[in-house]
Amino acid sequence: MNVAAERIERLHVLAREATVVGEAERAREYVRLARRLAERQRLSLPRDFRRFTCDDCDAFLRPGRNARVRTRSGHVVVTCDCGSQARYPYDE
Ligand SMILES: [Zn+2]
Repeated sequence: MNVAAERIERLHVLAREATVVGEAERAREYVRLARRLAERQRLSLPRDFRRFTCDDCDAFLRPGRNARVRTRSGHVVVTCDCGSQARYPYDE
């Protein structure tokens, strides 16, 4: 793993921890930093990171806390508290 990828992984952990203690805005900052870093380094974000962040409001999503996850005919639908929905193929 290169340095940028390690930093992104670290930001992922920090974002999750900030969300656990209820600091949603700080979690967003980590999410944005990681996205900028990935863009600059031309890296793709880890799949878990992409799935558990909101594309619209940059929130770090925790199902049951600030997001709902539903399985629906072959798809997983993740709904953020801001109303934004993302869907993914079920088995990927
Ligand atoms: Zn959102």
